[in-house]
Amino acid sequence: MEIRITNPATEEILSRYQTMEAGEVYAIAGASHRAFVQWRQMTVAERAPYFVQLAGVLRKYREDWARLITLEMGKTIAESRAEVEKCAWMSEVYAQNAEAWLADEEVEADGLKHRVVYQPLGVILSIMPWNYPFWQALRFAVPGLLAGNTSLLKHASNVTGCALAIEESFRLAGFPENVFRTIVPDYETVGDLIGADVIQGVSLTGSAEVGRHIAAAAGRALKKVVLELGGSDPFIVLDDVDLDFTVQGAVAGRMVAAGQSCIASKRFLVHESVAEEFAALFADRMGQLVTGDPLNEATQVGAIVNESALVELEGQLADAVERGAKILCGGRRREGTGFFFEPTVVMGVTPEMRLAREEVFGPIAPILAVPDDDAAVALANASEFGLGGSVWTRNLERGESIARRVESGTLFVNSFTKSDPRMPFGGIKNSGLGRELSHFGLREFTNIKGLNVYKHG
Ligand code: NAP
Repeated sequence: MEIRITNPATEEILSRYQTMEAGEVYAIAGASHRAFVQWRQMTVAERAPYFVQLAGVLRKYREDWARLITLEMGKTIAESRAEVEKCAWMSEVYAQNAEAWLADEEVEADGLKHRVVYQPLGVILSIMPWNYPFWQALRFAVPGLLAGNTSLLKHASNVTGCALAIEESFRLAGFPENVFRTIVPDYETVGDLIGADVIQGVSLTGSAEVGRHIAAAAGRALKKVVLELGGSDPFIVLDDVDLDFTVQGAVAGRMVAAGQSCIASKRFLVHESVAEEFAALFADRMGQLVTGDPLNEATQVGAIVNESALVELEGQLADAVERGAKILCGGRRREGTGFFFEPTVVMGVTPEMRLAREEVFGPIAPILAVPDDDAAVALANASEFGLGGSVWTRNLERGESIARRVESGTLFVNSFTKSDPRMPFGGIKNSGLGRELSHFGLREFTNIKGLNVYKHG
């Protein structure tokens, strides 16, 4: 099957690839298993220097890889550079900490010696999305490999060039052959591969719909699975905020990758006493953002990934307008070539509207006014998702108390949601299961083994 990659900013065909035959995929999986048999023998301390080298390679090729990200999926070149740099930093953080994070743990029990040891599982299949082509793939691969596993990457088809560049980065960093491989299979081969003996686990980052499908395949084969799925993060504004500071956070939180981020702020739950003022300032700032050619350094908002994503955004917005919501700025796709959507703020959104119920993957910010803190929490939790979120207030105690009540994998007070290799990342409810990053992510694909020694006789 041919994969044709279209630049979303120009609608030009960038490149074409062929999916691999099943036989080729299985040959690579077999090679990955043979690599695992060697790779697992090394200590974590022996593996760590490879990841420092990987960081160096990512920095060396930062401009090339950033350009490739922008061409394939349309985010601004500044965002793409930051993504590659963040991958390099994460790789260093893991190289520095993995030995301690995977060290044996002693437990007092009734025998002579009781230890918890973390051992690798084998070949792990990762299935990744296009929106952060380097970050998502490496956020799994770096800890997964450091723990002693080997990995196959099946990336989103529209970032196949990035998938091959990631494989090339591991090669250039001097990793043993086949420890990290990219595969380009069709869906049927992916399904079969999950059931094959050579695969010991699956990590998927993507939509809830595909999550259910992959988890079902993993479940049938009784394979370990980690799911990082969609989100509809609340952005809760209390009545005591500095509006200028909060609106800056709202713009940054909503507009990352033109709004196409799982942890973008997607529902603005604003105390009714400040809602009008917040909305006016938010619309003013959003209206000033420069949308356009993502390779242009001055551009602040890049492209939407494809035509069908634009149609989805139009449908979600039309539903809100039909039910009485009011557009304060933007509201349309940009005329001309390329897939662009104007930064949009919508006031008077209510919980039954699609903008409040569904994941909105683009630059639309729905505002829902709330009478008090309890109503904000109730609305924040009235969602199928539970990934991230934020609370904005001068009163840090009040903020933390609300943060503890919101049902999500991560919650921020006075910052929009972001990932950090030192903190766990992941969701609850339909946002997924399992954790990435920090020592939790490092241990996800390990056998947490209890080692018990007793006196003889
Ligand atoms: P997607 O459509 O779910 O695709 C994700 C991956 O699954 C892609 O590699 C895709 O390959 C593959 N896939 C789809 N159907 C498949 C099937 N039947 N069998 C095997 N593989 C299949 O998601 P996306 O559009 O790429 O990414 C956007 C979604 O990811 C959003 O919901 C976003 O919130 C979520 N996301 C979550 C996180 C997180 O950390 N929680 C991070 C980033 C993104 P093809 O491209 O070939 O279809």
